[in-house]
Formats: sequence, structure tokens, C-alpha cells
Amino acid sequence: MSDRYQRRRERLRRALAKADLGSMLVTHSPNVTYLTGFTGSDSYLLIRDDAETLITDGRYTAQLAEECPGLDLHVRRPGEEMGKAVATVLRRSRLGRVGIEGDSMSVGLRETILGQLPKVELVTTSGLVETLRAVKDRQEVEEIRRAIWCAERAFGVVRASLRREQTEKEVADALEHQMRLFGARSGGFAAIVAVGARAALPHATPGGQQIGSGDFVLMDWGADCGLYKSDLTRVLVTGRIPPKLERLYGVVLRAQGKAIAAIRPGVAAAEVDRIARQIIAEAGFGRYFGHGLGHGLGLEVHEAPRLAASSRAVLKPGMVVTVEPGIYLPNWGGVRIEDDVLVTRNGHEVLTTVAKQWDQIVVH
Ligand code: ZN
Ligand code: ZN
Repeated sequence: MSDRYQRRRERLRRALAKADLGSMLVTHSPNVTYLTGFTGSDSYLLIRDDAETLITDGRYTAQLAEECPGLDLHVRRPGEEMGKAVATVLRRSRLGRVGIEGDSMSVGLRETILGQLPKVELVTTSGLVETLRAVKDRQEVEEIRRAIWCAERAFGVVRASLRREQTEKEVADALEHQMRLFGARSGGFAAIVAVGARAALPHATPGGQQIGSGDFVLMDWGADCGLYKSDLTRVLVTGRIPPKLERLYGVVLRAQGKAIAAIRPGVAAAEVDRIARQIIAEAGFGRYFGHGLGHGLGLEVHEAPRLAASSRAVLKPGMVVTVEPGIYLPNWGGVRIEDDVLVTRNGHEVLTTVAKQWDQIVVH
């Protein structure tokens, strides 16, 4: 079995020991993938002091033999409920006290396990594997670079062929299609393409609005290249240039630049958020920046660490975060600029390269 996954499980065991736990049931699918290399779903991993068992079902045995040879499996019989299978494995392991992932385990699963094993103590944990995942190794960073490459090449094609008659949805579909042509498995999430006033909605769903019906369009897209994701946002000016847009764009770009410049090991994630927020507030738009500055990026498109006022994370080499300040004016439109940034030993590296200076975003 790969040392890579064994090393990760050893790190989890050390984290468990610190939390006074000898074992944990991992139910969050990306965490199972991270700890085993298994890319399927519906499978839980029980980590014990000295061993681990993946509770899975018959659909996956061939895939498991390929992706994680040597891993101990409990294959559910057809019709065997997950909760009962978990209880069987726990009983066999003679565990009295087991950590569970409080952000993932369902109430139903918990009740089934406790119904079968009333004496077992299930101890709720939060973010143990996520904390490990926040720091990427070299191979993970390479996979994120690949996901960025797919997204950027796709954007280049879509931008070059943008037409006034295209609808938001057609552009979003074109981004998805192009990312796949450049090697992505799919988009990393449903792309946002929002024309004009609709860009004031940070999570607008692409609809029938035509590109030419507004003066600018906001796109937020990213690729899933196997397992790892990318996440970018750009605004393109497609019509006449509204002076207000130029002003807003300048503020957001400056806020983003200052925040990125502050990224290095040892800096609090909340401090990076504060730097961007202060610039936007000083320009008079503080109350129109209603979300955190950014988030970690990896197996999931949103993961630890968060760059936000309430975040307690401190940046470490190997973390990959998005930096995405925005200003959203209701009924007028919004500006967000999003790049993916790696925390390096001495500072940071901006992994994304799509042009974002004002004179580079005007497409007509
Ligand atoms: Zn995004
Ligand atoms: Zn994002």
C-alpha cells in the first residue's frame, strides 16, 4: 500500500491521540479519499490504533483492489444497512469509545449504531482530517495546478468566442465543455455567469440573459481534474464602460493585491481578510462586501482554511487558498476577482494567471 496514505493515517492517529481518542469513524467522503486513495463513495473508514478497515459494498471491490490494494475491507452484503455494518465492525474491534465526524455523520446512522451497541461512546470531533488536508504536499499542489490549467485554457477559448447573443447558461455550458476538452473530469462546481445587475448576486444561477444585454459579465468557474479543484472569478467588460464599474473594479483589484501581498507563513487568515476589508471599507463599500475573503481549495472547492474575520487559522507553507474580495451593489451589479494562491516557505505564489488589469478585461 502507498506510503502516502499510510503517512496521512499516522498523522491522523497523532491528532486523535491529542484529542484523547484511539479510534475514529471517518464518514466524510473526501476525508476517506484523502486517507486511502479510494475515489468511490458510500464507504466509511474506521481508524484504530494499529489498523484500519474500510466499510464498503460489493460495487467497489474491483476499484478498491486497484486504488488501495492491501486495505482491510468489510464488504457489506446486499441489503445490509450501513449502520449495522458499522456496528458489526465496531463490535469485532472491541471498541468502547470511538470518535465520529460531527460535521458529516447523519443522525440516523448515529442512532442505528447506538441502537446496536448501546454501551459504545461516540465522541463528536470536528475538522481533524480537514486540518491535515489544509496543508498540501507537492503532488497535491501539482494536481491543483493542473485543475487551474484546464480552467484557464477553457476560459481563453470562451472569452475569444464570446458573442452578444449568447446567454449566461450557454457561456457556462461552454466553460464546462471546454474544461472537459482540456482534460478535466468536469467543472469543479456549477459555473456562475452573471450579466450586469445579476452580478450583484454572489451565487447567481446562469439563465437566459444575453451577454449583450448588459455592459459587463462576471464569471466564476473552476475545473475538477481528477480529484483536485480550481476556482477563479473574472469580470469582462462587454459593452460601454460604466465609470462606476471602473471605480469599483479598481477598489476590488487593490484590495485583492494588498491581501495577496500579505500572504506568508505565520500570518493569521483573519488578518489577510482584514486587509482586504479595510481597503473596501475605506472606499465606502464596506457593507457591500458580504462574504469572507477566501477559502482553502483541494479535494473540495471549499475547505480549510477559511480567510475570514472569524477564522482562527494561521497560514502554513503548503496551504492553497482563494483570495476573492467583491463589492455587490443591489440592482446595479457586482465585481469579484478571485485567484488561487499557494503559501510557500517564504511567502506565496499566485497559481492562477488569467489577465485581470483593467485594460485587459475589456473584450470589445
Ligand atoms: Zn469561485
Ligand atoms: Zn471561491
